Amino acid sequence: MNILVINCGSSSLKYQLIDMAKEEVLAKGLVERIGIEGSVIKHETMGKEEVKIQEEMKDHKRALELVLSSLTNKDYGAVESLDAIDAVGHRVVHGGEAFADSVIINDEVMKAINDNVEIAPLHNPPNIMGIEACSELMKDVPQVAVFDTAFHQTMPEKNYIYGLPYEYYEKYKVRRYGFHGTSHKYVTEKAAELLNKPVNEVNLITCHLGNGSSITAVENGKSMDSSMGFTPLEGLVMGTRTGNLDPAIITFLMEKENLNPEEMSNLMNKKSGVLGISGVSSDFRDLEDAAKDNHRAQLALDIFESNVRKFIGAYFATLDHVDAIVFTAGVGENSISMRASIVEGLKNLGLKIDDKRNDIRGKAQEISAGDSSVKIFVIPTNEELMIAKETLALTQK
Ligand code: ADP
Repeated sequence: MNILVINCGSSSLKYQLIDMAKEEVLAKGLVERIGIEGSVIKHETMGKEEVKIQEEMKDHKRALELVLSSLTNKDYGAVESLDAIDAVGHRVVHGGEAFADSVIINDEVMKAINDNVEIAPLHNPPNIMGIEACSELMKDVPQVAVFDTAFHQTMPEKNYIYGLPYEYYEKYKVRRYGFHGTSHKYVTEKAAELLNKPVNEVNLITCHLGNGSSITAVENGKSMDSSMGFTPLEGLVMGTRTGNLDPAIITFLMEKENLNPEEMSNLMNKKSGVLGISGVSSDFRDLEDAAKDNHRAQLALDIFESNVRKFIGAYFATLDHVDAIVFTAGVGENSISMRASIVEGLKNLGLKIDDKRNDIRGKAQEISAGDSSVKIFVIPTNEELMIAKETLALTQK
């Protein structure tokens, strides 16, 4: 059974075709600049050379047409025809309160995803475009929606209601949702395997540290609390997002700088975080390179490290015990120095890293010292495989 996994952004489309019998990627690619001049698709079938095709793509439907023709191309494709694609799994950012699990897409599901556009105006519209394009071009192939928010629907009320008048929860569903759920769920299952325990018996603090970052407290395999909120802007300082702020700063800056809501949102989502602090880059590799002789680059790294530590500390206080801390995503999987300094700062909780074990990138491994109070793991995330597994489970039923 081959599953196509689709992740649509406003001007991009990432895809992987996965053979589920072997859990093996057959082909993958990325389309960029959809609807903008200079659209391009980079496609790679495993074992063959990567191809780059520059062609104008006015919308996601045109992009998907090129993806499907690349996948079936005689020379650089992965399958003979579209009949070899059995199902499509779509990443959908915001499921709101309507979805605590992945679902097979039908008209009712589309309506619910559309209803969530109001609370996810930046994220759900491109996901919807991807689903519509697939439904048109692959009429008889089942489509599944896998939501970033679904894993967090187990959060108790006390962790998702904000200190606002309750009527705004009732009227507009303003509450914490939590994101990166597919990744937190994936590493939770992997951590349970490494701990040799059933997943519904593990308590974890999972740290997804990438361009966007979030930390989740997992109790008995379920999300209990998470750092992202109503949108993926809350929580840790990120590549370009503010993370937590005193909310009063928002109205203050809007007045002082004469910003409208859209401009303020853009500032908080695209120009802030470690990029805004450092003035150098949102990329942690650039910051690590610049930090030696650039105070603000070092400051950005210090603030990020301190943010991560505070959330880990808070979730130690939330959970009644912790079996393991997990680091995942770009920074969590690859930054040896960031992991070391986060754990060093937590030594008063008895946490200890083993420098030799920590000297790895992108590999699932325990990195804690033998006498650490809690085990610490690096687990590379694989959101595409998780989406494919959920799609398989639903379409096989
Ligand atoms: P996203 O999927 O949200 O775009 P990723 O999980 O791919 O993000 O993470 C991207 C981040 O990971 C970038 O900031 C990048 O600098 C960082 N990263 C990747 N490799 C390394 C490395 N070797 N050392 C430090 N940071 C790294």
